[in-house]
Formats: sequence, C-alpha cells, structure tokens
Amino acid sequence: MTSNASLLPYARQLIDDDDIAAVADVLRSDFLTTGPATRAFEEKLCDVTGAPFAVACSSGTAALHLAALALDLQVGDKVIVPSITFLATANAARYVGAEVVFADVNAESGLMGPEQLSQAIEQSGDNIKAVFPVHLGGQSPDMAAIREIAENNSLAVVEDASHALGGAYAHSGEATVGACAHSDMATFSFHPVKTVAMGEGGAITAWDAALAERLRLLMSHGMTRDADAFVHKDMAFDKGENDANPWYYEMHDIGFNYRASDIHCALGLSQLGKLEKFVNRRRALADHYDALLAPLAPLARPVTRMPGGKPAWHLYQVLINFEEAGQSRADVMKGLRDQGIGTQVHYIPVHHQPYYRRRYGEQTLPGAEDFYGCCLSLPLFPAMEETDVERVVTELTSVLGGS
Ligand SMILES: *Cc1c(COP(=O)(O)O)cnc(C)c1O
Repeated sequence: MTSNASLLPYARQLIDDDDIAAVADVLRSDFLTTGPATRAFEEKLCDVTGAPFAVACSSGTAALHLAALALDLQVGDKVIVPSITFLATANAARYVGAEVVFADVNAESGLMGPEQLSQAIEQSGDNIKAVFPVHLGGQSPDMAAIREIAENNSLAVVEDASHALGGAYAHSGEATVGACAHSDMATFSFHPVKTVAMGEGGAITAWDAALAERLRLLMSHGMTRDADAFVHKDMAFDKGENDANPWYYEMHDIGFNYRASDIHCALGLSQLGKLEKFVNRRRALADHYDALLAPLAPLARPVTRMPGGKPAWHLYQVLINFEEAGQSRADVMKGLRDQGIGTQVHYIPVHHQPYYRRRYGEQTLPGAEDFYGCCLSLPLFPAMEETDVERVVTELTSVLGGS
C-alpha cells in the first residue's frame, strides 16, 4: 500500500451521530424489541417502497425463508432462482424442502430475465411453484415480463431486492422497487454492506393483507393474540366476557423467532431517512465511474444498463476480459489491494457450490459462467468522493497494463 492511500473497501456503511442517538434512545426506552421503533420502521419502509404492507425481520435470509413459508412451498415443489446471486436466495427454497432450479443469466447484465426464466421452465418440467428474481447490483430485470411468464405458468413471484432499495425500473410503466407491482412479495437485507444498515436486519413487502398477516405470524412462532382469530373460544374467553383472557395466545402454525429488535429498527429507521441522499450519491458515483471507464472498453466495461432503469446501485460491477489483459482476476485484485483498493466478486454461481453439486450434479449455465468469469465489483459507498473514483480508475488502468 502506498503510504498516503487510505484503504478503500468495496462497500461500507455510513453511520452518523444521529443514527447513534436513535439507537441510544431505544436503549433508554421501555422496549428493546417488538416496540414502537419496529412499527415506525415498517411504516417508513411502506412509505419509501409504496407497498401497503411491510414486515421487519432479523435478516434478508430470514425474509426469504418467511416468503417461502408464506407461499406454502413444500417438499417436491421447485423454485427457479438465478445462479448469480447470494447463497441465501437459493437456500430459502431448501429451508422449506423445495428444490432449486438454477436459471441462467444474461452474460452482460448478470440478471435472469424473461428469456432465462422461460428456458428454466422448459427444462425443468413439473411442480415449479415459484420464481425468485434478483435485482443484482441494484438493477432490475424486466419484472413485467417475468410476471407475465409466471402467471402463465401459475408461479408465485418473490423479488430478492436486497440490492435494490431506493431504486425504480420502467417496464410497463415505472415502478418503485419493493412496491410489488409485478410480484407477490419483495425481500430486503439491511446488512451493513447494503444501502441501508441495521447491523443485521431484513424485511418483506407485500400487497396482500392476508399474506402480510401470515408473514407476521410466521415471523414470531406462528403465535397470535388476535382475539377474533382464536380457535378455542372456551379457553380464550371466560363465560360472559367480551374481552379475551389477558394471558391467552394461540399458535396457529409452526413459526420462528425472526423478529427484528427495536435497537436494530431504530438504526434502520434513522438510515431510511437518508435513503434518498444515499441513493443520489451512489448514482452520482456510478455515473462518474461510467464516464471515466469509457476509454477502457471493451477490455473493462460496466455491466449492461437496463433501459429505463433508475437503479439505486448497491454494487458497481465491471466486466473485465482478463485473458486479453494477460492477468488473472486474482492478480488484478491483488494489484488493486496493494494500492489500498478493495474489490469483490458477486457472485460465484450458486449451482457450483458443493452442496448444490451434490444434490443436482454438474451443470453448465453459459451466461452465468461468462458473467462470473469477468465480473469485479469496484468500491461504491456513499462516503466516497469523486476523487476516490478517479483513484480507482487510475489504478485499475495501470494494473490492467494501461498508462
Ligand atoms: C445480502 C443478501 C441476502 C441475505 O441478506 P442477510 O441480511 O445477509 O441475511 C440475500 N440475497 C442477496 C442477493 C443479498 O445480497
């Protein structure tokens, strides 16, 4: 590392004093969990996504698991998942005993679009019940077309929008990510590398009130205190009483403890207040990268932009022809690391993971192999300056053998 270069990670949360104060306020309050901060966080999430219902939970992985549970996916059912995603998207199907059908992606965008979805449906036969499209890096696939194919094949749609909070896309009219304009549910992660940080945290947004109610039930042990819902009226109500017994609750399904604490939600709420600022910053930095990287094309080029998209840019991914550069990706990453620049690879195709190879055998998905072979995520986070982007591009150019 050069002596004056500070380390630039590929992602980093931005926590200010007001975030810290919001968390401290909860610590001094009566409720550390299941209190007003959780409700306020969920309401704010409805505001920013435009979804009528939001259920906060303990992680993005929990959100995906809850979505799979709420859809009643069973052993023997199949779920289509793009192979270029984080492990959790696929694992959620396995948690409920369903099988994963790995779909290919477009080699230039990394997204599973309608084409790859249709191909996966054709090749995987019966019992496909759902598709989990992923908004990779913040870009959205053509959700309207995906929804249409899903409807024609009676598939539920759960968007893994972990990368895309604050974004919008324009297919059949503009839609905010998380509004579920073309899906049953959308899931989010608030891990610190994501656009909004909670430490650990997640959420599901939905349109349907009954579905949201079911998510909420499953998120906390399948347990309800809703008097109207009680099955055992004789146990719930003493003779002649209109109010249910104060201690009484019922378990209507097998659920989990996937609650988000008020401590986490206070941080999430405070961070959501800055979402627009964060997203604008990410967009400005991405535009700056686009302009500065243009001379490196086609050796290194940004992932293909989806038409009409307004991504929130969780990642800034470039595709590099390492063969032509005469350097391996490990060499390029090490070269940048030596200059204090952190990079990452999103993602190793999930169908190559030993667990999935054991289960489904060897598979080749050409788009996913190509995308994986070329992709590299450069630093992108809201505290970065334009000069940081310039430094990254200068060092990348030099590592790739340019001047
Ligand atoms: C981060 C992430 C998840 C999992 O979220 P956690 O909050 O870490 O459990 C799921 N899917 C994608 C695409 C992610 O990036």
